Amino acid sequence: MTEPVLDIRELRKNFGALKATDGVSLDLWPGEIHALIGPNGAGKSTLIHQISGSIPADSGTIRFLGKDMAGIGMAGRARLGLSRSFQISSLAPEFSALRNVMLAVQARQGSSFRFLRPVTGDRNLTEPARAMLERVGLSDRADVPAAKLSHGERRQLEIAVALALKPKAFLLDEPMAGMGPEGSKNLTKFLDGLRREAPILLVEHDMDAVFALADRISVLVYGRIIATGSVDDIRRDQQVRRAYLGDAA
Ligand code: ADP
Ligand code: MG
Repeated sequence: MTEPVLDIRELRKNFGALKATDGVSLDLWPGEIHALIGPNGAGKSTLIHQISGSIPADSGTIRFLGKDMAGIGMAGRARLGLSRSFQISSLAPEFSALRNVMLAVQARQGSSFRFLRPVTGDRNLTEPARAMLERVGLSDRADVPAAKLSHGERRQLEIAVALALKPKAFLLDEPMAGMGPEGSKNLTKFLDGLRREAPILLVEHDMDAVFALADRISVLVYGRIIATGSVDDIRRDQQVRRAYLGDAA
């Protein structure tokens, strides 16, 4: 492909006098994991929200699969395959794990199905949903309400829901947060395979994960990207070491 999946140019967002994102340009290519790192308050989450459409940008352009996202809201972008993935808030707590994934499968299949068939017992929904649960290792928890799952299991379920929506790009904002070392290791392995499904823009503090996974790393400081490069480039970059990495490098 000669075109990035996601092409962001000069994105800006001010909160009053604060420049949360201050002219951010970056792109995401098929098959890659592009990690975005930076200190707390650098504007990483704001950038992810601007891309997913939950926060409107003040200026700049977002092109997704060649299409300008201006005027397309969060729901519209999600339908095109661009949305924040792995969010607890995307789960219906009272519904079973299986039902949660079925709803995502149904959303992807479009509204025509919704009116033609009842949700439960529909094999067009249950079969792909069960396959997703199996993939994330939750088969034996299919009938448990999301609210009753452990934190780690809810994370697995969010992933199943995200996969069921068949995104064309994954936007992940600190997926390792709140996971123990074992959980982080498992998720790292999982993300490594996930890039074959769709490229990943990965905001992450866990530098072991970032260095293990990233094809490219961009460093955001005070709303500006101060460096973009390979893992080695970024480890070596003196400005980055001063601004962010410290001893971790
Ligand atoms: P990061 O994810 O890199 O930690 P954020 O994008 O969450 O950074 O925040 C960037 C800056 O914008 C911070 O100074 C934060 O306090 C501020 N900020 C974030 N969201 C809002 C908001 N809705 N209103 C006002 N200020 C905000
Ligand atoms: Mg954040």
